[in-house]
Amino acid sequence: MQEQLERAAALLARARRVTVLTGAGVSTDSGIPDFRGPQGVWTRNPEAERLSSYQAYRDDPEVRRESWRQRAAHPVWSARPGPAHEALVALERSGRLRALLTQNIDELHQAAGSAPERVVELHGTVHRTRCLSCGALAPMSEALDRVAAGEEDPPCPDCGGILKSATISFGQALDLDVLRRAQDAAQDCDVLLVVGSSLGVHPAAGLVDVAAAAGADVVIVNAEPTPYDDVATVVLRGGAGELLPRILGGG
Ligand code: NAD
Repeated sequence: MQEQLERAAALLARARRVTVLTGAGVSTDSGIPDFRGPQGVWTRNPEAERLSSYQAYRDDPEVRRESWRQRAAHPVWSARPGPAHEALVALERSGRLRALLTQNIDELHQAAGSAPERVVELHGTVHRTRCLSCGALAPMSEALDRVAAGEEDPPCPDCGGILKSATISFGQALDLDVLRRAQDAAQDCDVLLVVGSSLGVHPAAGLVDVAAAAGADVVIVNAEPTPYDDVATVVLRGGAGELLPRILGGG
């Protein structure tokens, strides 16, 4: 492990452009469960996967009511960034961060101090709502206030359409501009650093192929094996909050 740590640290120290791809594992230390880890939402309750289906949300009012109940009680509203988020801010301050691509929807990278213009939110943000009919965006707090006041499935105030968090659910396409920015950053880096992702969700996981095909070294930091471990130059198995400060020079 020590040898792999040193190898990862050396690759990162000499890289001029590092693109980072994060997943739910960078936020578990902040109290937000992942989906597929041992304590993941879906691992504990496979039924919960239905709440992440776009079609089920659109077509089934009971799925929407349950989603609003869960959103209102979600740990994301009180979560604070952890050491993994902070280590990535330090990388950015060193002037070598090309882009921070995240599958997370919790905005904890921005809360830690990552520059919003460098953060590419592949799967959107839970801090806003989007109307499925007219596309209007609004702060999530407005919808949650209505839920707290008794509305079980608050409709769009502009057109009466269905409101959802401004996130990409399964069955929903990614924003093409966002995906293009992410692909450009994966193609244009010396090292792609993947942190806390099962790399089981496409097209996000395919960014590893893009970086590797362009000749970048891939460093994977994750608690469990991923389908891309064979592609990586270095794989570090363990906690992101402990390992990132060590390979990025902060601890
Ligand atoms: P995932 O649940 O599929 O995988 C998370 C991975 O992180 C697992 O392999 C797990 O072993 C690992 N992990 C957990 N804690 C870790 C830690 N402290 N250090 C290192 N590794 C750790 O998540 P994913 O790959 O991001 O993809 C699933 C989808 O889940 C994404 O689309 C994302 O939008 C969504 N999601 C986001 C959040 C969030 O915003 N915080 C939370 C849950 C799910």
